[in-house]
Amino acid sequence: MSTKFDIPPGSGQLVSLPVARLYTHNDLSIDVQAVRGKRKGPTLFVSAAIHGDEINGVEIVRRLLQHPALKNLRGTLLAIPIVNVHGFLNNSRYLPDGRDLNRSFPGSAKGSLAGRVAHTFLDEIVRHCSHGIDLHTGARHRGNLPQIRADMNNEATRQMAEVFGVPVVLHSRTRDGSLREVAADNDIPVITYEAGEALRFDEVAIRAGVKGVINVMRHIGMLPASRRRKAKVPPVLSDESYWLRASESGILRALVPVGAKVEAGDTVAMISDPFGSKSVEINASTAGIIIGRTYLPLVHEGEALFHIAKYKANIDRVYSRVEAFNEQHEPDTEKYPPSDIDEPPIY
Ligand SMILES: [Zn+2]
Repeated sequence: MSTKFDIPPGSGQLVSLPVARLYTHNDLSIDVQAVRGKRKGPTLFVSAAIHGDEINGVEIVRRLLQHPALKNLRGTLLAIPIVNVHGFLNNSRYLPDGRDLNRSFPGSAKGSLAGRVAHTFLDEIVRHCSHGIDLHTGARHRGNLPQIRADMNNEATRQMAEVFGVPVVLHSRTRDGSLREVAADNDIPVITYEAGEALRFDEVAIRAGVKGVINVMRHIGMLPASRRRKAKVPPVLSDESYWLRASESGILRALVPVGAKVEAGDTVAMISDPFGSKSVEINASTAGIIIGRTYLPLVHEGEALFHIAKYKANIDRVYSRVEAFNEQHEPDTEKYPPSDIDEPPIY
């Protein structure tokens, strides 16, 4: 199949895919950096900012494209740092028609803007790939412990999820209209990396993301196996997670950070009224790991506060992997090299 990414082996090219004309008389496009190795291999897309305010992935893609390992690339890497350009410009998750791009697949060439972006992305990029990694963060005011979401019943996505190198892997079926759903319909294995918070850079999440993409590329044969025999932190699968919700409206004081281990009945937060005359405890319903939370301490009753992953495995064993992971990616430690690419950490 001939595509706009048929470039000579051992070369790179920035390709602009036109999507629609805006009312400003400017064109909206999706810009893709194609990098083709000298030798044959898989075609991988790495996309970010499908939700326009989820920007950790944009930095992950930037660092990936500078990564020295790409000198030995086999196959083709298609890097799309900003899929939802309109949302990115407006610090918004959505498109101007109020649509969520990740619920708009497969889209159509004559649809609204979200449908057209989805259609172009699917038709001109995803369909030409053998694998994909989609980079996300938590929503606005919500942070995620670095985690992979994948259909663990599919062998190819399961392997990608396991080699990525984050301790938390959630089995998740695909949602209607999502990129993962249409990719699965086309037999293209795609995993989602969820890490950090919307509109913020998170150095650990970014480093783990770059490393994870490289790990997947090594696994699928796009890059040679690592010479460094560094112990990886194997993930522990969680096939169930739940949100602890606010039992009252009020001001939230969180008592545990993202990544914490909780036992059933542990108090994870207090909600008080502004006068301090009334306080209620928020208790974990089960043992688990806090994999996401709200950072906005102003809550209405029923609001989702803490996302907790449940495990069949011993929770201490899971927690030790979360700790090892944080230690491995924490910047400025002398024990570990700061980064594969020689750049100072950002805060
Ligand atoms: Zn997202």
